[in-house]
Amino acid sequence: MSLLLLDKRLMPIQVLAPEVVSKIAAGEVVERPASVVKELVENSLDAGATQIGVEVRGGGIELIRVTDNGLGVPAREIELAFQRYATSKISQLADLERISTLGFRGEALPSIATVAEVEILTQSVADSSGTYLSLKNGAINRRESRARARGTTISVRQLFRNFPARLKFLKSPATENSYIAHLVSQYALAFPEIRFSLIINGRLVLNTSGNGNLRDVVVEVYGAEVAQKMLEVNNRDTMPVVSGLVSLPSLSRSSRGYFSFFVNRRWIQSRLLTKAVEQAYQGFLMSGKYPIVIISLSLPPEEIDVNVHPAKREVKFWHDQNVFIATQRAIRKALAAVPAPKFKTVPTPAILPSNPWVETGEKSALSLELPILRVVGQLANNYIITEGPEGLYLIDQHAAHERILYEKLLTQRSRQQVEVQGLLEPIVIELTPRQEEILRTKADVLNQFGFSIEPFGTRSYLIKTVPALIKEANLMESTKALMDLLTFKEASASWEEKIAQSLACHNAIKAGQILSNEEIRELVRQLEQTSQPRACPHARPTMVHLSSRQLEKEFGRMASSHTR
Ligand code: ADP
Ligand code: MG
Repeated sequence: MSLLLLDKRLMPIQVLAPEVVSKIAAGEVVERPASVVKELVENSLDAGATQIGVEVRGGGIELIRVTDNGLGVPAREIELAFQRYATSKISQLADLERISTLGFRGEALPSIATVAEVEILTQSVADSSGTYLSLKNGAINRRESRARARGTTISVRQLFRNFPARLKFLKSPATENSYIAHLVSQYALAFPEIRFSLIINGRLVLNTSGNGNLRDVVVEVYGAEVAQKMLEVNNRDTMPVVSGLVSLPSLSRSSRGYFSFFVNRRWIQSRLLTKAVEQAYQGFLMSGKYPIVIISLSLPPEEIDVNVHPAKREVKFWHDQNVFIATQRAIRKALAAVPAPKFKTVPTPAILPSNPWVETGEKSALSLELPILRVVGQLANNYIITEGPEGLYLIDQHAAHERILYEKLLTQRSRQQVEVQGLLEPIVIELTPRQEEILRTKADVLNQFGFSIEPFGTRSYLIKTVPALIKEANLMESTKALMDLLTFKEASASWEEKIAQSLACHNAIKAGQILSNEEIRELVRQLEQTSQPRACPHARPTMVHLSSRQLEKEFGRMASSHTR
């Protein structure tokens, strides 16, 4: 360490050259194609546009074009707009404390021009003719007068062409598209009175009416079924004012990817608000299930600091406790109006304590094969008690069945022998733009598992066949969970594994289900035949083993000579 330090000290302190500074700064603003879209859309919103069109090609690397009908940039200011720290939104320090625009740092346009080729065509209310400007490597290489209706069009091409490190870090074009689709969807939810359209590779994937009705935007983004199941949140007499839509407890998702928060109409991420939502839903949703929420807070600008994150993705609330309480209560109030749901009770394990006689130290030794087990019975409708040569094995019936189904699915798929069932009545699913983008690239994997999915109108799809192991009662739940997998996060495991896990999980015997002796024996027999019988596909144990030796120890049979 000291050597490294010494090495570093060999270089004298120096002020970095302007081009180095601008590249460093650009890196903070423009992380990926979606960041460019974000900055351009925010500029259009700040310019008072009522219509904003976004077009992207090649994951945003080839082209990003944002068109608006806002105020436009005055001809004499257009070059200034591309200078660092040049902005029309604040002029003095005090303004930083009461920001009412989305932008304020004057960094976006110069940063984008540093990492891409940019063209702008704009017509301001103040000018008789429009102006066209093109920039390469941050420098202007053409300027002329050109006609245009009032507003601005900015085209960004060859993003990160001279930044191979950045390019390498990007995900596939489809994934980058899905980030963009997600982002534009969020702005559409934040501004229902503005008409947004998004075209990806020539396909219109989002088109809102701009009629000011949030529920109508939800129809566009999440589909009609979701829109119908959203409750209105509206607390006007609190500070902050909390409004929006939140899902009924009967509608849930398997990730937090459907939480949208807007503060003074700025789309933000917030742990505080995430917690407030989760607390509000406590008791309404099973663990591992999350609602869909669209929450807008509005409060005086001096109550927040928006200058706390390089990409303006977070804000600091000066009175965060008030914000938390107001949000949590507003959602709770909406939920309280709904009759309480009844959940199937999951029995708590009677003799499954995390206690010293559960042998964990021998885990690796235990993950050989499973011996032949003799079934003793079922406990708490949840665990199967079995006996083997090495003592007692307590099996979690759900986890065990998950393991069986998981391996079955993967084997059938790899042999291309998946058993398929046709549906008498196809299922109609509605996808968000970002889910749709991911579906395009994953359709063949779903196909290999026995799903046939066909387009059916705007962002609607028909599921015509499903794997045979899906029971009718689990059909909707299983397909919904699969669609949830199609969120913007890259799956950590492979898609094949994720799909198999999800299907296994939603179709396995549930905890609390009473099993006949025959069913229990069959389950144990099938578990014995799996390649990894001791863990479910999520790597949780399927069984707890109590060796004969442990039992003897527990009953004090080893210490004394008393062996009877
Ligand atoms: P900031 O938004 O922080 O001011 P930007 O670099 O994003 O900084 O933009 C610089 C300036 O260019 C803005 O302050 C605004 O005056 C002008 N501008 C940028 N985009 C637009 C647009 N779409 N319509 C009108 N003016 C714009
Ligand atoms: Mg800006």
